[in-house]
Amino acid sequence: MTEKQYGGSTGRSSGEKSIKKNGMSNLQKQPQTKVKTNILENSNQKTNEQKILLAGKIAGEVKEYAKTIIKKDMLLLEIAEKIENKIIELGGKPAFPVNTSINEIAAHYTPSHNDTSIAHGLLKVDLGVHIDGWIADTAISFDLENSESQEASEDLKKSSEENKKLIQASKDALENAIELVSKKISPKGVSSGEEKEILTTGEIGKTIQETIESKGFLPIINLSGHQIEQNDLHAGLTIPNIDNKSTEIISQGLYAIEPFVTNGNGKVRDGKPSGIYMLTNPKTPRMPIAREILEYIYEEYRTLPFCSRWLVKKFGMKTMFALKQLEENGSLHQFPQLVESSNSKVAQTEHTLLITEKGVEVTTK
Ligand code: MN
Ligand code: MN
Repeated sequence: MTEKQYGGSTGRSSGEKSIKKNGMSNLQKQPQTKVKTNILENSNQKTNEQKILLAGKIAGEVKEYAKTIIKKDMLLLEIAEKIENKIIELGGKPAFPVNTSINEIAAHYTPSHNDTSIAHGLLKVDLGVHIDGWIADTAISFDLENSESQEASEDLKKSSEENKKLIQASKDALENAIELVSKKISPKGVSSGEEKEILTTGEIGKTIQETIESKGFLPIINLSGHQIEQNDLHAGLTIPNIDNKSTEIISQGLYAIEPFVTNGNGKVRDGKPSGIYMLTNPKTPRMPIAREILEYIYEEYRTLPFCSRWLVKKFGMKTMFALKQLEENGSLHQFPQLVESSNSKVAQTEHTLLITEKGVEVTTK
């Protein structure tokens, strides 16, 4: 998933922080910890670093699996469920509902429980895996415009070509951003007594923007990558997709970088409600079923995003009414779909990077 900047709902004000402030007694807050100090700490059998790397490895494998199953005209519901099931089969848990956003929808479309939409056009698949709250966040884009079709019209062929260029631009931008991070944050630079190279989030944004603009497209200025902490998908720093001159310095921690590329205006607006929610400020609801669902949400998802589709499976249709009540009483934030403001196509590519004193590792390869 991604983070929207400059107004609208970012989800940033929610989750861990508000629960700490206003938490219900039965919704205990996870200890507030800094990645910098606890990434290498031991807990249970695996270190947090091992959990981060395992989540990344699973995410990488699931992405390869996604490439083998996704075909034009397949139900988005089937795609999302197969991917989520694969994550579980490989020993992880989905860190958020699989996003299957098409064309001008840049992000935050997940199929509803009875979704009948089919895969087509420029499809972005954004998936997350977590091990004990340690997250891998990764995305790839597919051109399904005229795949495998010999008799496609000229218009379709053109559109398909454009999709491929948009996708390539987002891949190149990510690759250049990773190269910049790897070059600047070498193991030597991080651990030795020699003078450290400094890398700011603004420099990463500049690289992304320049790469995308050199291909004749625009980055989405109000979507960005983000730092990640345990059970907190959008924590700490944001990683811009433009040269926003930010001087915030990248240090050890976990980061998602996710260039979004468009042939439109380069901005997203909030669209329809997505059915993706996150626990924000839990308050006891009136309806017993809503209370039961709220407790289940905290047990199962903590402060990670989840969707109505998952809950309908467990609690049936009364879920929808309960979620409405929980959203109205402020317990939950519902993410809106994010739509390119001129309804133009959007491509996305995303990797998660772990930065430690040993250097930089792309966890989701
Ligand atoms: Mn992300
Ligand atoms: Mn993502």
